[in-house]
Amino acid sequence: MIVGEPRQAPLGNTTKLVGVEGDEAHEPEFMGRKYRYDLLDTVAEILPNARRCMYCLKPEAELVNVVRDDEIEYASYSNVAVCGSVWVCPVCSHVISEQRREETQDRLNVWHAAGFPTYHIIHTIQHHQGESCKVVVDGLLDAMTRFWNGKVVRRLQEENSLVGRVAALEGTYGFNGWHPHRHTTVFGEKWLTDEELNTLEREMSAYWQAVLERTGRYASVDYGLKIVRGSDMLADYLNKFGRLPSSEEALRAWTEASELTKANLKVSSSGLSMMGLLVAYDQTHEPEIAALFREYAEAFKGKKQLVWSPGMIDRIEALRITPRPEPVSRANRIICQIPREQWHEICKRRLRGKVLVVAGRGGDQALKDYLQGEGIRDCYYPYLEIDVLEEGVTIDLYEYVWGEVRGGDLAGDDLAGDQAGPLADVYQKSIFAIN
Ligand SMILES: [Zn+2]
Repeated sequence: MIVGEPRQAPLGNTTKLVGVEGDEAHEPEFMGRKYRYDLLDTVAEILPNARRCMYCLKPEAELVNVVRDDEIEYASYSNVAVCGSVWVCPVCSHVISEQRREETQDRLNVWHAAGFPTYHIIHTIQHHQGESCKVVVDGLLDAMTRFWNGKVVRRLQEENSLVGRVAALEGTYGFNGWHPHRHTTVFGEKWLTDEELNTLEREMSAYWQAVLERTGRYASVDYGLKIVRGSDMLADYLNKFGRLPSSEEALRAWTEASELTKANLKVSSSGLSMMGLLVAYDQTHEPEIAALFREYAEAFKGKKQLVWSPGMIDRIEALRITPRPEPVSRANRIICQIPREQWHEICKRRLRGKVLVVAGRGGDQALKDYLQGEGIRDCYYPYLEIDVLEEGVTIDLYEYVWGEVRGGDLAGDDLAGDQAGPLADVYQKSIFAIN
């Protein structure tokens, strides 16, 4: 897909966002998107040495394209390099978690349609205020490996016809410090009775305690390991992963986490997610939050967010009766091409999100007006220029250019740099021809 965001962002998960201005206040979906792009600069500020997302042009590319899907009034960029981090990037994590959610949901559907159940297990580990994030996360992952490889758990899986699993990792920062936990959906080939499920939870929980003890850690006897009937829980959970909390939510969680004097008060169970830390920092600029974000980034770097057990995907695919529907191919147009210098000006002034919102909602002319109003000139608006293309030669060039665009797989992958490069050249020539 084109660099940017999934075109069918789920409704209702980006409501109540900060940074809302004027008449846009009633359009949280758009503003949520704008804010995610704005937060790219917050990440760059906190992690100055990390690869900047959506800043550098792809190799060989000279122009950043704004691509618009007219049918759903949605714009995205192509020709810019993305960081691809599910852990620290507000834009990429949203895209990745949405893709994973769709894929996971689809596989769960296939499994359930075949008449089989799933069970959802949450593993947590006790943590202490002041303990480093890396220590707690590594401790959890190490214990998880021991848990699933342990003889007891292997026996339990066999007895209960549990044939595979998919697990997601998350870390939040809460009242007692770092709180990494793992959500696992286990695929069963037999429906367990409530009694069998209770027994399974009791035995797995006891084994989880034993594993943690052996590694010098511990978990709450009541909350260390929980099992519930599965349905769509993991997909729901992934759906929340790239979600931005509102500034009020983030600030409340931060206040609760940092108020040590109220140790006896009950606090928000979830704590602050990575996105929450980012929003809290953006709102307060407290160095302490930046330090936590850096610690989090370091601890999660290179870790897998979602892991399927070997063979599980094949097992599910073997049950698929009707093929997965192909994604709808849409007619995208490049409505604006932005030269490097102007692009970096847009980045510097935190306009990347706003440009997409304007381009998506208003289209070519609205984008041109907006950018010119911001003093950003010399961008190319191919479809607006068509009116002035009167001479046959330029029309030919125009046709050639847009034939290239339409011939390319715009609705599939990014418009690749090597495709956009010559295209930009021809287009520039056509501009030259007009003048
Ligand atoms: Zn990114």
